[in-house]
Amino acid sequence: MHIRTRFAPSPTGFIHLGNLRSALYPWAFARHNKGDFILRIEDTDVERSTQEAVDVILEGMSWLGLDLDEGPIYQMQRIDRYREVIKQMLDSGLAYPCYMSEDELNRLRDQQMENKEKPRYNGLWRPEPGKTLPPIPQGINPVIRFKNPIGGSVIWNDAVKGQIEISNDELDDLVIARPDGTPTYNFCVVVDDLDMKITHVIRGDDHVNNTPRQINIMKALGGTPPVYAHLPTVLNDAGEKMSKRNGAMSVRDYQKAGYLPEAILNYLARLGWSHGDAEVFTKEQFVDWFDLESLGRSPAQHNPEKLLWLNHQYIQKSDPAQLALATKPFAHELGIDTENGPDFVQVVGLLKDRANTLIEIAEGSKLFYLPAPNLNADQIKENIPEVVIPALKDLVEAISLSEPSKAAYAAIFKEVLAKHQIKMPALAMPVRYALFATTQTPAIDSVLVVLGKEEVVSRLSKVIQ
Ligand code: GLU
Repeated sequence: MHIRTRFAPSPTGFIHLGNLRSALYPWAFARHNKGDFILRIEDTDVERSTQEAVDVILEGMSWLGLDLDEGPIYQMQRIDRYREVIKQMLDSGLAYPCYMSEDELNRLRDQQMENKEKPRYNGLWRPEPGKTLPPIPQGINPVIRFKNPIGGSVIWNDAVKGQIEISNDELDDLVIARPDGTPTYNFCVVVDDLDMKITHVIRGDDHVNNTPRQINIMKALGGTPPVYAHLPTVLNDAGEKMSKRNGAMSVRDYQKAGYLPEAILNYLARLGWSHGDAEVFTKEQFVDWFDLESLGRSPAQHNPEKLLWLNHQYIQKSDPAQLALATKPFAHELGIDTENGPDFVQVVGLLKDRANTLIEIAEGSKLFYLPAPNLNADQIKENIPEVVIPALKDLVEAISLSEPSKAAYAAIFKEVLAKHQIKMPALAMPVRYALFATTQTPAIDSVLVVLGKEEVVSRLSKVIQ
């Protein structure tokens, strides 16, 4: 079987990180099986759909590297096709016009509620052999209803939830077209999944209730229902449904906060799927390992600390040149001119082991691009004790003659410390202060290499005269 999956977001409102998990899994399943992955934008809710939300989806997917084989396909551009299928269904008796007015429907519902019955359409306009339909009222545009099978049940083997059986008695005749002829949501999904030859529908479990209706329509249209895998919800760290109101962030927000796409992908992958106890893995490994059997059955909980930890792992593992490229925009944002000063790749290489985000790297890099400090006499007196001046002098002289390497500088420090019988902090702190007017810096020997011999010698010389 040639596997075809889809991500079918509705571009309404806010697209949070959890939403993109519904893109990641069908993408991974398609890639694992050398199948196709399709993006379908379900934009028939014209009032609530926005271009902004579409952009967030497209950007987010491209940032995470979820490449498409087909799409984006917009449902609004397929309206003619839906109308065509509705007409076919009317012609073949799979659907029928229903003239029940809004008022009548409401009255029916009230009555059913009063009788403690489940509110449902009563089939008044459903044609049956030998049945006489009411006279068609004037001035009412009918809705079109699907003739749901009577009796029996819909059974499917959900790849996550196991076998689900819903009695057809629970399902009334679904409206597939509104009075103005526009097709309804569940109907469009079916036509699309059939036309697009989708073999596996992997989506949020808020759609479980739609599935039996979709299966019935699909079968009526002569199609074979796909495999369904309904993913449990993603909860936020407080255990609530993720939403903007309770602080959920979009992929774009994470990008702006200095997260790496690899870390986000890895994180999302584990949010409801596992492979043994693997926590950090590459995209290739994820695709290689991905299967529907290992999807979790209970709601996944968003864990911001874990995401930050993962980001740190990826930053630490990153090649400094690539990381520098990714960090530059953040540095520029902070007003740092990365072209003017030490080699940015080296600076990033020095900072990456301790950073959790690209913003942290950018902030750390500031130190190296500020002008040399202009220390006054009091500052010097307070931070560079008189007694270390001879040691500093030896240090500067040795550095100026040394090759500019970390090992060479470390050796010089060792020698100077031994000669002057002082401990590392007694020398390193004044050096740091002389170089940057702060004692908070990364490892001193690395700092010297990155700042550059000339600059180091020049800055230190100013405090030992
Ligand atoms: N458009 C639906 C949503 O965003 C998904 C429909 C589906 O995957 O079948 O929730």
